[in-house]
This record gives sequence, structure tokens and C-alpha cells, in this order.
Amino acid sequence: MSKTVNIRDIENAGLMQEIFRQSQNEYPSECCGLILRDEQHQLTLLPCVNLQDEWHARDPVSFPRTSATAYSIDPRVIMDNESRMVCIYHSHPDHGAYFSDEDQLVAAPFGEPSFPNVSYLVVSVMQKEVAARKMYVWSDSAGRFVDDDQS
Ligand SMILES: [Zn+2]
Repeated sequence: MSKTVNIRDIENAGLMQEIFRQSQNEYPSECCGLILRDEQHQLTLLPCVNLQDEWHARDPVSFPRTSATAYSIDPRVIMDNESRMVCIYHSHPDHGAYFSDEDQLVAAPFGEPSFPNVSYLVVSVMQKEVAARKMYVWSDSAGRFVDDDQS
């Protein structure tokens, strides 16, 4: 039994609709955010600013992608919330809800997951409509993030 948060947990907490709304509101940019779990095991949403355009403008060589195809969350926000963070979500404007090579790289930069117990939710937004959502969890045997069966 996986202890990572799954699609059902997020739906039951009433957060999925909020994530869908944010995904649509920020279209055609990728949106991003965190799901936190407090001491009472309540899940709450922490929508984050996608800093990708800012980083791209400042350093296009290191950050060749814009917010159309990438997301960046302020590392300080991650650090401040790391102990309560159970999920990192982002959207894919006009792309499927797959976990891209770039997503793998961000989540496991040296082939090891930065946060092995954090699951990753990807929302596909086609023409500003939510088309799909999928959850990805770390697999020790696969050595990468894989589609969570429960989703
Ligand atoms: Zn992605």
C-alpha cells in the first residue's frame, strides 16, 4: 500500500476542481502548485507562481523554455513547505497528461527522486478545457516516476 497521496485523496478533499480551474485560468501557460498535508491529515492547496518566464527572460541559455512548456516553483516555497508537501502539480497546455522527460529530470535530477514520497499530478488542458489528469509516483524498480495505477 502506497503512502503517497493519490487522485482519489485529492478529489475527496475537494481540491481537484480548484486545480482544474487554475489550469484553465493560467492557460496557455503551465500552472503549478503544491498540495500540503497538515497534522490533522487535511490536504490543502498552495497554488504557486510559475517563475519560468521570469527565469527565461533573465537567463535564456540556462532556461530555454517558457511557461508554455515548463514550470518553475520558487525553491524557497518548496523548502518552506517540504515537510508537509505530498504532491506537486502542474498543467500541460495543449499536451497530454504524460510525465515528460523534462518532468522526470526536474523530479529526479540525478536519477534519484528529490522527494520520493511526493506524487506528481499532471493536468492536460486542451483548448482551455481539462482533458485528462494523471498521477505519477516514484518506482524503485523502474528507477523513474511511473503512472500511479490508482489514478
Ligand atoms: Zn510537465
